[in-house]
Amino acid sequence: MRNLITGGAGFLGSHLVDRLMQAGEEVICLDNYFTGRKANVSNWIGHSNFELIRHDVTEPIKLEVDRIWHLACPASPIHYQFNPIKTAKTSFLGTYNMLGLARRVGARFLLASTSEIYGDPEIHPQPESYRGCVNTIGIRSCYDEGKRIAETLCFDYQRMHDTEIRVMRIFNTYGPRMLPDDGRVVSNFIVQALRGESITVYGDGSQTRSFCYVDDLIEGMIRLMNSNETGPINIGNPGEFTIRQLAELVRDRINPDLKIITKSLPKDDPLQRQPLINLAKQHLHWEPKIALSQGLDITIEYFREQLRHTSAND
Ligand code: NAD
Ligand code: UDP
Repeated sequence: MRNLITGGAGFLGSHLVDRLMQAGEEVICLDNYFTGRKANVSNWIGHSNFELIRHDVTEPIKLEVDRIWHLACPASPIHYQFNPIKTAKTSFLGTYNMLGLARRVGARFLLASTSEIYGDPEIHPQPESYRGCVNTIGIRSCYDEGKRIAETLCFDYQRMHDTEIRVMRIFNTYGPRMLPDDGRVVSNFIVQALRGESITVYGDGSQTRSFCYVDDLIEGMIRLMNSNETGPINIGNPGEFTIRQLAELVRDRINPDLKIITKSLPKDDPLQRQPLINLAKQHLHWEPKIALSQGLDITIEYFREQLRHTSAND
């Protein structure tokens, strides 16, 4: 199989690169390095099955591939809000260009969509049939609405051109290779605690999220691509935690003396998030295996090593 992974140098993309390369497949990793790093895939550079291309998906590209895994898009609120117009362009034009490529070469196309499709949900937990409650004009809209139009494009390419699509709605995923300054909650809390800083809970910390460890997520992604399901299909860990509980879990693992402080809640921050994964269980025979406590331990060790390395180089 010749695979194109857009956003392949990012957090999830680089784990997918590893899995496909380990399976002996050919991989073209395409990235503009906005939030990705060459270091994430550097162990494959020079391998005959691997190619790395610096390219922005808002521009078309011609390649011969069998499968397109379309992950290119910043995922952390601070990064996707840095240039929201660019985020919207990446979501729309990027998906349009990659679907155009899929159509031209007859490749199967998987979209890394998101639980943000559900916005601030009035239905809990969220099934795929729920259509969402999304603000069209808020600070998260560039990403949420961007992913919604990206899903729409996929289904219109399927209806108009018979493009083989797979749409995956990813819930909050964490693990090694998140950036230390990524801004997402798991990496923020761990990095703060390892640096001996107070842990910053936004709002009163009663909002919930469901955290999936990266290896589980990548397994679900590969199963979806290999299946006959078009989706949309939720892939996430149904274990639901308040953000305060997460702060306490991280603090207690690293330094129980640390303070947990509160900061203002960003606008439109969803109050609750929990995937229903019946479809994934039934059609992909997939469910997550790694509990939050276990995944946190692995991720803490990763960041400990990263921070040690950074301070040794200072
Ligand atoms: P990430 O920011 O680590 O990775 C995104 C990658 O895309 C980066 O390597 C970045 O440089 C690249 N990129 C961004 N804009 C690009 C452009 N215009 N052209 C080419 N490359 C570009 O984020 P991630 O967590 O690995 O997320 C990967 C995908 O999964 C994203 O599409 C994201 O929306 C989706 N997703 C992730 C999560 C999660 O919890 N990690 C949840 C829901 C959805
Ligand atoms: N959050 C927090 N402290 C931080 C970073 C995030 O309390 O340092 C909160 C954030 O307000 C949100 C939750 O954690 O309620 C998850 O945030 P993240 O940015 O990881 O993902 P998303 O909001 O996109 O689900």
